[in-house]
Amino acid sequence: MIFGVAGVPTNYKGKFSNLFDWLLNMGLNAFEIQCTYGFKVSDDRRAIIKKYNNGQIHFSMHGPYFVNLGSLNKAVVGRSIATLKDGINLAKELGVTRIIFHPGGGHENTVEGRIRAINQLVDAINNITNEIDMGEVKLYPEIGGKTASLGSLDEIIDICKRCKYCYPCIDIAHLHAREVGSINTKQDLLDRLNKIKQQIPDKFKDIHFHAYTINYGEKGEIKHITHGYAMPDGSEAKPNLRDFIEVLKEMNIFPWVISEALDSQEIGAKYMRDLYAVDQ
Ligand SMILES: [Zn+2]
Repeated sequence: MIFGVAGVPTNYKGKFSNLFDWLLNMGLNAFEIQCTYGFKVSDDRRAIIKKYNNGQIHFSMHGPYFVNLGSLNKAVVGRSIATLKDGINLAKELGVTRIIFHPGGGHENTVEGRIRAINQLVDAINNITNEIDMGEVKLYPEIGGKTASLGSLDEIIDICKRCKYCYPCIDIAHLHAREVGSINTKQDLLDRLNKIKQQIPDKFKDIHFHAYTINYGEKGEIKHITHGYAMPDGSEAKPNLRDFIEVLKEMNIFPWVISEALDSQEIGAKYMRDLYAVDQ
């Protein structure tokens, strides 16, 4: 079981050097390094990450939000390519095997415009991975949270089919939000996961999840919700994480699951981890 958090949890007030023991004590064993402003990690933190990256903690890295390989702006694309290369080099140095990135926006949001943007992204990724020795590093394009953003489920599957080093990062909350509330039953989740399994079977076993609940509107994502809280109108916050864990169990898979619950990442992660641990 691999369950963990994205970034240092808001509730954690200790030193970075003690963070991983704190997570391990809760039964959590994954940490997504948030490289929000670029793939930069201080020397002190590098040493701590390397110390725990021996099977105790599973580290992934989340790329900066400005990475946008589908943009119409060539300068943005150039900077995104350079940044992803930095990320791959940093990942190799730290022994991190998963880099998560957003396919982006800034494209023309028509059927043809989206196809052009995805083609551009696929070409850019394949150029990067032809140029750099990837070692053990895999790239994970993530489901986008807004209806207009790149990264629908079909687009993520398409990218993974066409890029040898790309694997799916399925953010189930983003999927629910971008489809304006589509994940309401266990079957809804099963259908999505079965589709991924059928379409990209060789990539499915290395699938990466972000799982938490989310508030959304007609344009998709509005805000992540605190674990255990309802939607602003009082209705149940979704996707239902118990359903999600039951689906993982039924499919007999053991993916990495990262919680991005608002100000409660470790609480959401522990909740899912404990549900999965029952009967194991
Ligand atoms: Zn993300």
